Amino acid sequence: MPQHMTDQEWEAQNGSLSPDEATARGLCWHCSGNGVNYTAFGRVQRTVRCPECRGDGKAR
Ligand SMILES: [Zn+2]
Repeated sequence: MPQHMTDQEWEAQNGSLSPDEATARGLCWHCSGNGVNYTAFGRVQRTVRCPECRGDGKAR
């Protein structure tokens, strides 16, 4: 992974699906099927396993 992403770019990896759109595609509403959520603050960029789908990215 490149280490020069801005926090904004990092969080953009969460995707742009709305919760309704994600669910309609069979994907977890919380992580858009990624299985992880991208969070960044002060250039500390982390991935956190999605608590809603427990990382499998599927709709519940
Ligand atoms: Zn999820």
